[in-house]
Amino acid sequence: MAINNSINQYLIKHGFEAFHPKAVLFDMDGVLYDSMPHHVIAWQRSMAQFGIHMTEEDAYATEGARGIDTIRQMVRRQKGKDITLDEAQRMYDVKSRLFHEMGETAIFDGVIDLMRKIRQHGMTVGVVTGSGQKPLINRLLTDFSEFLDESHIVTAYDVRKGKPAPDPYLMGLRKCGNLHPWQGIVVENAPLGIRAGVAAQCLTVAVNSGPLPDDVLRQAGADVLFHKMADLAIAFEDIINV
Ligand code: MG
Repeated sequence: MAINNSINQYLIKHGFEAFHPKAVLFDMDGVLYDSMPHHVIAWQRSMAQFGIHMTEEDAYATEGARGIDTIRQMVRRQKGKDITLDEAQRMYDVKSRLFHEMGETAIFDGVIDLMRKIRQHGMTVGVVTGSGQKPLINRLLTDFSEFLDESHIVTAYDVRKGKPAPDPYLMGLRKCGNLHPWQGIVVENAPLGIRAGVAAQCLTVAVNSGPLPDDVLRQAGADVLFHKMADLAIAFEDIINV
């Protein structure tokens, strides 16, 4: 069946002999939470205060990168100057504040079922996010307290090189028990995050929860693609039992 083929192709691509998943590493925004529409608005409104024009496409295309990296890149492109990390952080703080003023976003259907299945199979739940928004990270520990341990979360503060570099997912593998790439499954919704998962050589599952065409996520290297977290939850045993 299709998932079997995808996993065989994954093994061939990386020269691995076997796939023995022990952890699932989830991206946060657009994977666990239906939060991207709010992030897009917060990005646009906050950057406008600094004279930076950000389109919806910019917000989706840069999703997953560390916020301060996105800001420095936009400033360089639009103002032709380099700003310090501190300056970028102050701009990011404005974005974070606007995001939180918009209220809490929903957990996607299927996420809790999927996490329950992961734990039932004796596997670890991890979260690997480019976010540096502390209230969001605290919310993870409340919402998923049954399934997720704080020591299994990677945030913008844990790595110097964010997605699309493999570093965040390599850190996730380390935090979830010094795992090999063929022992991890990455779940991502954004092109940069998918590239990071593939660069870390993990089986990378795309869940296309946003407006980008599927092809953009396939071209980023996704091994398997779903449209909803609930569909991934249903197919989960097919993925881990091959
Ligand atoms: Mg995401």
